[in-house]
Amino acid sequence: MTVLIDFHTHSTASDGALDPITLVQRAADRGIDAFAITDHDTVAGYRLARSRFVGGEGVPALVPGVELSCRWSGTTIHVVGLGMDIDHPALVAGLCRLDKARLERGGKIAERLARRGMPGALEGALAVAGDSQLGRPHFAQWMVAQGHVESANEAFDRYLGQGKIGDVKAFWPELAEATGWIVDSGGVAIVAHPLKYRYTRTKLRRLLVDFQAAGGQAMELVCGPGHKAEQRQQLERLASELELSVSAGSDFHRDGPYAPELGVELRHLAGFPGVWEMPELALPAVVTE
Ligand code: MN
Ligand code: MN
Ligand code: MN
Repeated sequence: MTVLIDFHTHSTASDGALDPITLVQRAADRGIDAFAITDHDTVAGYRLARSRFVGGEGVPALVPGVELSCRWSGTTIHVVGLGMDIDHPALVAGLCRLDKARLERGGKIAERLARRGMPGALEGALAVAGDSQLGRPHFAQWMVAQGHVESANEAFDRYLGQGKIGDVKAFWPELAEATGWIVDSGGVAIVAHPLKYRYTRTKLRRLLVDFQAAGGQAMELVCGPGHKAEQRQQLERLASELELSVSAGSDFHRDGPYAPELGVELRHLAGFPGVWEMPELALPAVVTE
């Protein structure tokens, strides 16, 4: 029997295109057995989905999830949390802190854009974001609407992408702090997409060691298109060497020509201790066996 999981996805509560209900419905239609919405710095999407899907036949087991932004060694790192008590004071306070950080960062981005002849970006981006967590894509959309750029891609290439003026990272909490919020609220902390940071093997190992020292227990094994077999092997070796558990997900944001489909087959992760087996996730036997 094929068991499908997906522990990394985004809804409209952050920068995904599908609302939480549609997203979980899509997962159900795909036959996914265990599923997490891991929006950037918010559990609002999961909270909504949980109130709607109470489990049962044909519905994936919903795991509480989040993807936190934090800092390590001068770069931005993403840590996925699964299985937390979303009302735990440690997590609530942490998410509140990140809300503030996002708004401060947004203000800084807006300041810099104003200096380039694009005033009013914060108000504009907030209006685009609506109920979603403010992020750079909202600035990009506003810039397109204002005619400052032709496309969101151009906005990122010229102003918002890595190393550009709108790439403001100073406001995130430290890796150890964000990891602590997840662990203290009863969850499992996971380093998201370890290859995305483009570290050397030595630096990635250093990140994982620091992460473990802060209570982190797992890392994602990315096996999507665009990743070579040797990169996957590098991650597998690090996981075994450091005795980290593994997790996996599509990091789905929206449909598109290069977009991943929801769901990862559990057999692709065979041989590794998985987060799906951990008591924190409280998953039914169909997934854990
Ligand atoms: Mn995103
Ligand atoms: Mn991420
Ligand atoms: Mn993500």
